[in-house]
Amino acid sequence: MKTLHKVKRIIKRHPHKTLKKSDVYVASYKLEIRDTKKYGRGVFARKEIAKGETIHIFTGRVVSEYECDHILVPSGQIRNDDPLQIETDKYLILDPLAYIFNHNCNPNAGMKDRSTLFAVRNIKVGEEITYDYSTTVGLNNPPAIWTMDCVCGAKNCRKKIAYIASLPKKTLAKYQKLGALQDYIKQELKEKDKKKWRKALVKK
Ligand SMILES: [Zn+2]
Repeated sequence: MKTLHKVKRIIKRHPHKTLKKSDVYVASYKLEIRDTKKYGRGVFARKEIAKGETIHIFTGRVVSEYECDHILVPSGQIRNDDPLQIETDKYLILDPLAYIFNHNCNPNAGMKDRSTLFAVRNIKVGEEITYDYSTTVGLNNPPAIWTMDCVCGAKNCRKKIAYIASLPKKTLAKYQKLGALQDYIKQELKEKDKKKWRKALVKK
């Protein structure tokens, strides 16, 4: 409920600011952690969440790839799958809630900006809130470095998931249209496209 008060305070302080739905941070009272009965715990909707609403802004300590690969993973402080990539060389050691959101190949949420999870469609009470992990794994983490077996059960389940470039073209286009890509991923894809064009030009 704290968030509601916060929103009211913002309106009071800035009476001319019209708040959009996406400005409203879905308070934790709309979320609950439960056993998925399939793959450990997950985050579920206790209340309806409208398309576009912010579900959770992932936070945590920012670490470099070097720190992850050479210190935190080998020492057993985190698992290789745990951190969220937020830049080509930066990762978040996720806050306790962020850590629990599971992957789905047909998700109802997506990641945008730096690390903002938002609803990509209306979410009903009781639905598990998921996002597509592949959309958050950059081009410097090809399948030789990271893959995950998927048992999400979606019709379009990819079975084995990997980095952003492993997404089927159609799926990537869908996420692009929904705005469900982080800033650094968008930048990496742009650079990749540029390189492709350059190569094509050189060939001619
Ligand atoms: Zn799947």
